[in-house]
Amino acid sequence: MALLGATATHAAAQAASPRWYKGNTHTHTLNSDGDSTPDEVVRWYREHGYAFLVLTDHNFLTSVDGLNALHGADQRFLVVKGEEVTDQFAGKPLHINGLDVNAQVAPQGGGSVVDVLQRNVNVIRQANGVPHINHPNFRWAITREELLQVRNTTLLEIFNGHPQTNNAGGGGVPGMEEVWDAILSGGTLIYGIAVDDAHVFKQPGRPDVAGPGRGWVVVRAPRLEARALLGAMERGDFYASNGVELAEYEANAQGLRVSVKPTTFSKYRIQFLGKGGRLLSESLEPTASYQFTGTEGYVRARVLESNGSMAWMQPVMVPARAAARHEPTAMLLVGLAAIGGLLQWRTRLR
Ligand SMILES: [Zn+2]
Ligand SMILES: [Zn+2]
Repeated sequence: MALLGATATHAAAQAASPRWYKGNTHTHTLNSDGDSTPDEVVRWYREHGYAFLVLTDHNFLTSVDGLNALHGADQRFLVVKGEEVTDQFAGKPLHINGLDVNAQVAPQGGGSVVDVLQRNVNVIRQANGVPHINHPNFRWAITREELLQVRNTTLLEIFNGHPQTNNAGGGGVPGMEEVWDAILSGGTLIYGIAVDDAHVFKQPGRPDVAGPGRGWVVVRAPRLEARALLGAMERGDFYASNGVELAEYEANAQGLRVSVKPTTFSKYRIQFLGKGGRLLSESLEPTASYQFTGTEGYVRARVLESNGSMAWMQPVMVPARAAARHEPTAMLLVGLAAIGGLLQWRTRLR
């Protein structure tokens, strides 16, 4: 992975190297229960430093061609079509975004929470869209155990800016980071995203309504194009944030390296977490790195800012190196035991 903010001094290198694009993948307009037109919504994100926006109305696919003709700009701004496939089971809201679906997808229903989720994930995939599971703790709809069973999706909202989504958990229900760690600890690689789920653009400054600018992703992609962005997200080549900006973020087979772009009044902690959410190390400097040892299961990093905002890096599954080294030895022992058993059996026969 290249460095975020790497200074490509040569024009050729600049054209060839991937860039980082800030975007929001969960937004509503007047086409469902938002308070503003698609034009007004797109304008807000365009004017607030975003590079891309996915419009995701409830069970409605808003056309983006006219919006891109008006607001789109090569390598600067892009609107991506999408839908929040809005379903339920036994009164529990089950919402899954379909990013860049090729046609409007109807909610599929099903016989259980897991069944409804899985059928909607599958139909989004069939429409060539990228699914992400939305706000599991909204009305406490989806449990950790249910999320552990959903397949064929790589993205999970770990932060949603809507004020009733209970990101932190409570009353015995785990928060979204704890759920994320449980899924990763079970061996399923899933990436954490932060989104606005914005509905309200006409009441700025009210924390009790679902306003914009609260959660986003920063994606490293070869170009500002829907498939390039979504491909990068499905590879985990992005970070999620609700306020922290990174200067560098590199992950490779050896380890992770994170560098915060500090702001004047804040201090930071960078934490590296492993299987079960175990704290592997913590740095009090704005730059930190972690070398894999082969015993972590997976490693992910997060940045905690002194006013409560965060950034979440994506997990890397770490192959068990120590176990791999012992594997031939174990095989040899099993082999020797088998030969020994055979010799004993032959001895008894005589
Ligand atoms: Zn929703
Ligand atoms: Zn929504």
